[in-house]
Amino acid sequence: PSYLSDRINSLSESATLKMTKLGRELAAKGINVISLSVGEPDFNTPDHVKEAAKKALDDNFTRYSPVPGYPELRQAIVNKLKNENGLDYDISQIVVSTGAKQSLSNVILTLINPGEEVIIPTPYWVSYSEMVTLAEGKSVFIDTTIESDFKITPEQLEAAITPKSKIFMFSSPCNPTGSVYSKDELAALVKVFEKHPNIFIISDEIYEHINFVGKHESIAQFESIKDRVIIVNGFSKAFAMTGWRLGYIAANREIAAANDKMQGQTTSGTCSIAQRAGITAYEQGLDSVYAMKEAFERRRQLVYDLLNDIPGVKTNLPEGAFYFFPEISSFFGKKDPEGNVIKDSSDLALYLLNHGHIATVGGDSFGNNNYIRLSYAASDENLKEALRRMKEALANLV
Ligand code: PLP
Repeated sequence: PSYLSDRINSLSESATLKMTKLGRELAAKGINVISLSVGEPDFNTPDHVKEAAKKALDDNFTRYSPVPGYPELRQAIVNKLKNENGLDYDISQIVVSTGAKQSLSNVILTLINPGEEVIIPTPYWVSYSEMVTLAEGKSVFIDTTIESDFKITPEQLEAAITPKSKIFMFSSPCNPTGSVYSKDELAALVKVFEKHPNIFIISDEIYEHINFVGKHESIAQFESIKDRVIIVNGFSKAFAMTGWRLGYIAANREIAAANDKMQGQTTSGTCSIAQRAGITAYEQGLDSVYAMKEAFERRRQLVYDLLNDIPGVKTNLPEGAFYFFPEISSFFGKKDPEGNVIKDSSDLALYLLNHGHIATVGGDSFGNNNYIRLSYAASDENLKEALRRMKEALANLV
């Protein structure tokens, strides 16, 4: 309606949430829909984390927390960054929020003036460009394809930089491609950033633990630019805590203070109970994370083999996260059994939902129309059945 603000009218609906909703609607009609659209682990939060939350309630951690989070949680985050990533921060540089999503939004709103540019490699996580729009900034995209494993080169980065560039924003491991930048690849990008001291780097590391090629490499390890890096991370993916809403940033003190101020006028500190549980999650180690990663690695191979068995679909082997981003443009221009033409990746995702009863997400919402995203955070059994349905549905396009 016209009475809504231009700001909200300029935003798109989250495509991943929309496909999940459509899938649920079909399921409510009694149809067996397999969801490969949602970005969340299919595991339960580890028991010791749940116990910590119960204890937090019994101990009456039920009141407002400090806006940037309990000092004990921020200290646990500082310790984690030191022990796992070799990075030095102190608690004045940590701001806890209601998930990495809010952290990203806080950072963009605290750094971007209208018209300033945010450089985003495609494909990117759906919300990045919308958050930039909300802040009245301008997204500048660097296109990548499956041939370069969806990674940008230093030359591409250099070419995208203008006097208005303010932020470079990326995720590694990447949602939606699963690509992981190696230390050498990051070092090559850092050389470019060294020449442009006014650009900040948002490093979204929410998938750091779901990495099949070795240890996580953060771009904040490069001292020459560390002060300009804002690490965004959280508990959703590592500890299967998507519903708890717990994320954070690590940044220079000025940016951290600005995020604290932003949050102080919008959401305040995040859920006290989730924060207490977060302390336990970080203090008690990563055993549950390793078990989850093992399952993801097995499923990755399963889906890789099955995707390679579908004519017209081209895929790489993702190095992290729990997504595939196969190329599907060979189906554009074909018709479904009712005669509707598949024009783009969203059409294909809708076709797969309505005819194959599997929920995926069109690549167009991630900035690359020739692909679709499949999440393999589902049981082995469901994955096998989903890929069987996908193969069959795609074979019915003429
Ligand atoms: N960043 C990326 C790349 C994601 O995929 C997601 C969740 O899907 C988030 C951030 C948000 O995570 P959170 O649940 O912590 O808000």
